[in-house]
Amino acid sequence: MTARLLKGNEIQEVINAELADEIALLRAQGVRPGLAAVLVGENPASQIYVRSKVKACESLGLYSERIDLPVSISTAELIQQIHSLNSRDEIDGILVQLPLPKGVDTHKALDAVDPAKDVDGFHPINAGRLMSGRPGLAPCTPVGIMEILHRSHIPVEGSRAVVIGRSDIVGKPVALLLLRENATVTVCHSRTSNLAEVTRQADILVAAMGRPAFVTREFIKPGATVIDVGTNRLSRREEVEAIFGSCSEALSKFERKGTLLVGDVHPQEVREVAGAYTPVPGGVGPLTIAMLMSNTLKAARQRRASSLRG
Ligand code: NAP
Repeated sequence: MTARLLKGNEIQEVINAELADEIALLRAQGVRPGLAAVLVGENPASQIYVRSKVKACESLGLYSERIDLPVSISTAELIQQIHSLNSRDEIDGILVQLPLPKGVDTHKALDAVDPAKDVDGFHPINAGRLMSGRPGLAPCTPVGIMEILHRSHIPVEGSRAVVIGRSDIVGKPVALLLLRENATVTVCHSRTSNLAEVTRQADILVAAMGRPAFVTREFIKPGATVIDVGTNRLSRREEVEAIFGSCSEALSKFERKGTLLVGDVHPQEVREVAGAYTPVPGGVGPLTIAMLMSNTLKAARQRRASSLRG
């Protein structure tokens, strides 16, 4: 039996419709939530991400502002820019697009964001709130993964969940969210021994490692739900061939476009073993953006609570 496809694009559309209703209510009360996206340097992938975040704001009727800063900026200058956004009333959310250039101290920059406007959920105060089960702003990709599970009616409580990856952005927070909902959670990383043996225990397997098509058949328990967070852009024909063979649909797509986006999970093998899985593209990615919009609304509501009705 072929696995069920968990279509992030479709879930995003449903969430966007809900957000649009909420935004209309806020705007009727004179509030237009605003997001500032800070982009340092000219990393092409970061430019694409920021552009799509600003576009999502525009299509939902949120105010958005893009702040482009030179790659040569110092940590102190970047912090000054962030402080100025912290103090502006029309800005409810601030995101600092990662990765930052080598010359900038990423932790210092992220720590400068007002936790009330930290819509990426990367500030240590929000990380602490997540860890201790208190309300706050949680990172968008992990929250998006939980939305996919909930809206696809995948039971979390009592399940065995395995997360591959322990980054502050995806692996650790998604593990905490799964734990909060009473899954039994194991976190794996590059030093985990017998990885496939561990992941084969998972009812819910989250792959967030940044290794193209690494998770193959033997990593997956038959019938499991597999969430593929990886976004790996292949630009060499040999890499595509090594994964998909020399006469595949993927190879023709690569030849048409010049690159190919591949997740951390082997797209052909997961289909044959899993019960349900997210595709790449069109799985977790759209939810990350939807949750950024949702966090911006949440931040706006919380910060402006005293001036809002209901
Ligand atoms: P990261 O910071 O590079 O972390 C990767 C994690 O994977 C690390 O914990 C690393 O272990 C682990 N890992 C690497 N190779 C491994 C191996 N062979 N076996 C077991 N574990 C291994 O990456 P990230 O920021 O979490 O992102 C992960 C992937 O998700 C990337 O492809 C990224 O582009 C993608 N992503 C997608 C979205 C989206 O919206 N779709 C959002 C965020 C990230 P160690 O800790 O031991 O090094």
